[in-house]
Amino acid sequence: MLSLTLRQLARPLVRHVPRAVASAVVRGQHTQLPGDVASWTGQESLASDDPEMWNLVQKEKDRQLRGLELIASENFCSRAALEALGSCLNNKYSEGYPGKRYYGGAEVVDQIELLCEKRALEAFSLDPEQWGVNVQPYSGSPANFAAYTAVLQPHDRIMGLDLPDGGHLTHGYMSDVKRISATSIFFESMPYKLNPQTGIIDYDKLEMTARLFRPKLIIAGTSAYARLIDYARMKKVCSEVNAYLLADMAHISGLVAAGVIPSPFEYADLVTSTTHKTLRGARAGLIFYRKGVRSVDKKGREVLYNLEDRVNFSVFPSLQGGPHNHAIAAVAVALKQAASPMFKDYAAQVLRNAKSMSDALLKKGYTLVSGGTDNHLVLVDLRPKALDGARAERVLELVSITANKNTCPGDKSALTPGGLRLGAPALTSRQFKEADFEKVVDFMHEGFEIAIDVKKKTAKLQDFKNFLLQDPETKAKIADLRQRVEKFARSFPMPGFQDH
Ligand SMILES: *Cc1c(COP(=O)(O)O)cnc(C)c1O
Repeated sequence: MLSLTLRQLARPLVRHVPRAVASAVVRGQHTQLPGDVASWTGQESLASDDPEMWNLVQKEKDRQLRGLELIASENFCSRAALEALGSCLNNKYSEGYPGKRYYGGAEVVDQIELLCEKRALEAFSLDPEQWGVNVQPYSGSPANFAAYTAVLQPHDRIMGLDLPDGGHLTHGYMSDVKRISATSIFFESMPYKLNPQTGIIDYDKLEMTARLFRPKLIIAGTSAYARLIDYARMKKVCSEVNAYLLADMAHISGLVAAGVIPSPFEYADLVTSTTHKTLRGARAGLIFYRKGVRSVDKKGREVLYNLEDRVNFSVFPSLQGGPHNHAIAAVAVALKQAASPMFKDYAAQVLRNAKSMSDALLKKGYTLVSGGTDNHLVLVDLRPKALDGARAERVLELVSITANKNTCPGDKSALTPGGLRLGAPALTSRQFKEADFEKVVDFMHEGFEIAIDVKKKTAKLQDFKNFLLQDPETKAKIADLRQRVEKFARSFPMPGFQDH
């Protein structure tokens, strides 16, 4: 507001510049004259305005094109959504909600936000009488914190899947010695865990712990878990201890929208999500909340959810300022796509591709946490191969295959964990099919063999990394594999990029 006023004040100054001053400006003597803004039109392209940054963007574009992207949380957003993201909507302030803003000029962004809300409910086949949605969270983590803040007081108790077992930081992670996530700093968190033998969530122990800990909220959601979640079972536990069930479907929301895996909406009170993982949109977060009657008390009176006002207040003004209207528009574009028959085909192909990857790995003798997959990702346990996730990740990176190290049940170190997380969503957006994923596994297998060989010859992780860059024979093997990987990757289309 202040800068606007200054500029308005400055404008007449420009028009009435004394002639002597004006010619000094022309001669370049007064570059700091107030109001001398006419020369900066803001019309320069990135390439000419900031070649250094343009170059970095081109480098990243090339990296994405020539690589095999297996990070389970990543995807390639559509050109249409990226256009909305890079639009003038970036410029608009609109604190508040449609029809109740703290800024003027919000009539268009009001329509955009309402359209996004409508599409969010439609994408998940929700009845607007029973569910509402807040589309303003900046990303998944702020969405979670806002959802907690809506229904919990400081130091209220929550339970979520432990981070090393496949949960997310925001589900309350704390280490043995330190509260790490703000969720564990402001609330009291107690993890539940996987059964280390089966790699499946230990629902019996979860139930026992919940009876003792009496949490006010239990989170059903994962970042590194290859199986489906038993929402009905978790709802039963929540009902018993009178806790809210929050489903965090950040990773799987695209699969839920497509209806290819079970939906949490039948059981959950609150559902949070990111929009950029399997949902394939711009980076943002969503909070869905139930409306209407939560329960009936002993005297037969209805107890209402009352979540709408609490969730909305929590997002703004409690935690956020102006909504990112460009992101909201881009999410709306992605949600329209997510409701299409094409997206259903996409999500079904993601599942088939993850299964193909899982089968191919098993056929080559690899061990998988939980033995396989029901969703978009696979967790490989490399410990039986005398390898670990950190070394495998590094070799794959050198051959242009991107994945990330991950803890397996029983792992002691998060820096050299035993596992590797592999996801199918991104490459499926590049039209990869089952046979292509078999080929991807062949490439990965070659990388793992290099890593196993070099691990035998070296001691510490740093020695291993140095050896990869220094040993001539290993360097040659890596260069050859990388060249074949990149040729293969480049032969597939890439959504979102206008020229390649
Ligand atoms: C990715 C993820 C988040 C956080 O999303 P950001 O957009 O990275 O903040 C939250 N919950 C789960 C389960 C996730 O996988």
